[in-house]
Amino acid sequence: MKKILSLFSATVLLLGLIVFSIQDVQARFSGGHSSSSSHSSSSHSYSGSSHSSSWSSHSSSYSSSSSSTGNISLVTFIILIIVVLFIIWIIYKNQPKTMIIRNPNNRFDESQLTIFKQHDANFSRIVFLDFVHLLYVKYYSYYGKKEFSYLTPYLSDSVKKDNMLDLLIGKQVIIIDEIVTNSVRLYSMSSTDTEEVIGVEIESNYSIHPAFYTQDTGKQHSRYVRTERWFFQRNKGLLSPAPETMQALSCPACGAAAHFTDTGECDSCRTVIIKGQQQWYVRDRFVLDQTLLNTGDLVSYSEEQGTNLPSLKSPTLVQEIAGFEKQRVIVWSDYWLTFKQQIVENYFLALNAAWTNHDLTKVRHLVSDRLYEANSFWMALYKQHQWNNRLDDLKIQDVSLIKIELDTYYETITVRIFASCFDYTEDNDHKIIAGSNKKRRAYTEYWTFARRAGVEKTENNFNINSCPQCGASADKMGQAAICDYCGSKISTGNFSWVLFLITQDENYLG
Ligand SMILES: [Zn+2]
Ligand SMILES: [Zn+2]
Repeated sequence: MKKILSLFSATVLLLGLIVFSIQDVQARFSGGHSSSSSHSSSSHSYSGSSHSSSWSSHSSSYSSSSSSTGNISLVTFIILIIVVLFIIWIIYKNQPKTMIIRNPNNRFDESQLTIFKQHDANFSRIVFLDFVHLLYVKYYSYYGKKEFSYLTPYLSDSVKKDNMLDLLIGKQVIIIDEIVTNSVRLYSMSSTDTEEVIGVEIESNYSIHPAFYTQDTGKQHSRYVRTERWFFQRNKGLLSPAPETMQALSCPACGAAAHFTDTGECDSCRTVIIKGQQQWYVRDRFVLDQTLLNTGDLVSYSEEQGTNLPSLKSPTLVQEIAGFEKQRVIVWSDYWLTFKQQIVENYFLALNAAWTNHDLTKVRHLVSDRLYEANSFWMALYKQHQWNNRLDDLKIQDVSLIKIELDTYYETITVRIFASCFDYTEDNDHKIIAGSNKKRRAYTEYWTFARRAGVEKTENNFNINSCPQCGASADKMGQAAICDYCGSKISTGNFSWVLFLITQDENYLG
């Protein structure tokens, strides 16, 4: 029995190792990469289909060692195998399978937002998350530099003094760069008699390296994936500023670009900004998880997770459709057909084609600045490694409506896209290093489109190849998505639908 027990523990260990090696890291235009945090978090999760493959490799390894069981009769042995397999099956059944697939019970409580908007009718989730995104990237890119003081009015004293010990790189002076945020979402909203607090969860990754290379450190360059929770605070009773003020960090007093001294004095107007009096500031930040990422992981493929999960439709979708019909004076069924085809499908195919062809210039105006920055970064990383991720014969199977949100400034529509393609990564000699060009891969993603409220252009005449403002060819948008013909900035959604967020199905929480 002892032997069987050790075999049992060996098989459990083996099963554990197989499971541990399953990582959900895939490419595609989007945050497909976002799941790269799976290093730690996916170690105990796997989908039904990946289970069967690890299952079969488990049983074959078991039988190959069966000859060593000697004096135990064959029948007893077979029974024992069945018992062991049964026990393993029970363990598997009881394992927490949702460690990477986010628990829907952790969904943000939308009623908190409804209550919040009763006090601040100008609050816009998409604008606020964009602001968080912007501040997060600035926080890390300014860290350790003199520009860090520019952020003084946006950080509490404790957050500003935060010495980044959590980065675990000893006493080195470090440089943080190549910051890419994969997802930003609301976590909580609350208020006291005097303050309002919003919690957000941010998943990102970035590079760390010592500022000065020594013989000891060599040219260390490590990439980390981390999840953080940031809490923003401001005084109670404020109205959110217009998107233009939120989309660039600027002085709340004079509007100049945010250049503040250590005491929070504006370089332009000399006003000392008091935290929370006009704008949000970061009260606390917590690191929930941090994992070292090997770039090699980027091209390892595993089974898609979450593809078969039910769609997390908004519980109030019927009312949201009615509200949209009223605001836009349209019939939803007609509108949806056009939106699905002209916006969702066209954008999806164009963006993924641009990704496969390593050229985002023609689609720059279709995505927000943050999404563009993130995808440009991944594209550059692939190029640096001479990897080409291809999404051949991409087909959309279905698009379902998930959520419509209307606020003072923006309309947003979230859909779930069901697609499949031959997804593989090859090197410059066309040698396939990951994925398959023979086996079709099915997946789903949640895409959130946003448009400035009151933009009434009909989607019928929409052409993704032209500037939605002046109609000229969308071939000269530059990095900032400013049309060279009319000078309009397109990526803020002021003229047409812009893709703001992509969320992997296993991460979507509404
Ligand atoms: Zn100022
Ligand atoms: Zn234009």
